[in-house]
Amino acid sequence: MSGVSTEDRSVCLGPTCEKTVEQRQGGRRAWYCSRACQQAAYRQRRAPTEQHLRQLVVDQLDRVQLVDVDQLREQLDGVDAETLRRIHQHLNTIRRLLADLIEVHEP
Ligand SMILES: [Zn+2]
Repeated sequence: MSGVSTEDRSVCLGPTCEKTVEQRQGGRRAWYCSRACQQAAYRQRRAPTEQHLRQLVVDQLDRVQLVDVDQLREQLDGVDAETLRRIHQHLNTIRRLLADLIEVHEP
């Protein structure tokens, strides 16, 4: 295994960290130099792969098509202006990204 070099020292398993982790006598083995490195490693393990992300994007866009516009209008009635502004911004970003994508792929 990487990270274990001697009895009481090892290299931190944080994704971009090369610090040495000192082992305390009698305690549980420490794999990370800090809580930040432990969390970074956790986030990296949980991060979806590129292939998974591709499938997620397809699934999300597929779901958008199923939106009933009348129902959506009704649901948006109770939504405050700040939230509406954020939704609008996100949708604009998605529209721009998709427009770029289609331009790139269509000759
Ligand atoms: Zn570290």
